[in-house]
Amino acid sequence: MGQLFAVEIIYRGVFQKTLAKNITRDIVLAAHNEGKLGISFGRYGDSPERNGIPAKSFAIVANDEQTLQEGMAQYEPKQVDVTVVLDDTLCKGTESWAWYGLQPVHHALKPGRTLIVVSLQDAPELLKTIHRNEQPYKLAVLKGVTSFSGMWVFKDDHTDVRVLGAIAKAFPEIVSLQAVERFITEKLKSPLKVTSAKTAYDRFKTIDVKPGEGNPEELFKFALPEWENMREGVSIKGQPQGGPYKDPVTGEVGGFRPARNELFKKYSSRTQRPVVNFSTCTKCTLCWLNCPDASFDVTPENTYDANLEACCGCGVCEAVCPVEDCITMVNESQFKDNNSQYEAFKKDKDAYLKWLEKTIESTEPIEKRSHGFRYRGQYQEQVPEALEVARKG
Ligand code: SF4
Ligand code: SF4
Repeated sequence: MGQLFAVEIIYRGVFQKTLAKNITRDIVLAAHNEGKLGISFGRYGDSPERNGIPAKSFAIVANDEQTLQEGMAQYEPKQVDVTVVLDDTLCKGTESWAWYGLQPVHHALKPGRTLIVVSLQDAPELLKTIHRNEQPYKLAVLKGVTSFSGMWVFKDDHTDVRVLGAIAKAFPEIVSLQAVERFITEKLKSPLKVTSAKTAYDRFKTIDVKPGEGNPEELFKFALPEWENMREGVSIKGQPQGGPYKDPVTGEVGGFRPARNELFKKYSSRTQRPVVNFSTCTKCTLCWLNCPDASFDVTPENTYDANLEACCGCGVCEAVCPVEDCITMVNESQFKDNNSQYEAFKKDKDAYLKWLEKTIESTEPIEKRSHGFRYRGQYQEQVPEALEVARKG
């Protein structure tokens, strides 16, 4: 068998789908310039892919056809040479499709290989979130504002070619800088993008991460049903619809709380969570409508309580809420439980609002993460900041 190389891209579903797909496709096309063969394909975090859901895309490259076909026979690569995380709020990892429990971001990384994170933070900061690994690896930060776009648009901010340049430096066996430059020149026809890829290549630096270095938290695992506990016959339990929400203080019944899969919690990969100011909420419903996983319970007062067992921390609700500071994403390290915020609010409103203020103040502000659809002209407003980051590198 010849040599098989693989790259894994971890991204936020839909918002970064085109970006991830372009990067893996372009790795294969660029490697083709050097006589290599390859294929790129995607995997959802869970199916179907939805806004903000953690997801993966892969490129595998080989020197000969037989090796490539043997690599393709696997469901997804078991080991990769480079892992790229396109959104640093995914640094805890993903729950890959057909997998229960958290896969840390270096889950598939071969010992000594490179993890690249697109981020404004420095490597030591990221290591507070990235779980410990038993194997040594290299960590690189590709400085940049998180690149988000929508389903049908691609935000052409050069993140794609910058990642290609970084991969060429991290592991030239997959694709060399010359092959990347040729691909961009011939297929993307942009001298400016060649410069971006080359700049990312020249500025690329790694740090060595030793075994045991990183976030010491235990990886989240589910208690799975066992064979002997399975029901007889071939039947799939139907999902109940859910029902009204009972107010924890008054006992009043109203609103709606959807039933959720008790075996599949969505919070294991979360690095930030929404905190809600129920006193300023205008009940506009936008957070509820836009949440990819129906994570909001509608309270008897028709406000919206983020169910923290179901929330993956994508930040969509904060981006769409039209009321300033009504929903704020806060670093997950601030919290020890998934208790209902609405219950706390109802029990003691003043205490809740003080807690809210203190919690938001005492946490490191998270990069303003917008998905570009909040208001017309939002992308244009973000351009100067993105250019400044790109200039400094
Ligand atoms: S509650 Fe907010 S952060 Fe959580 S999954 Fe829904 S939209 Fe995303
Ligand atoms: S988007 Fe904001 S204002 Fe609208 S219902 Fe949700 S929390 Fe309330």
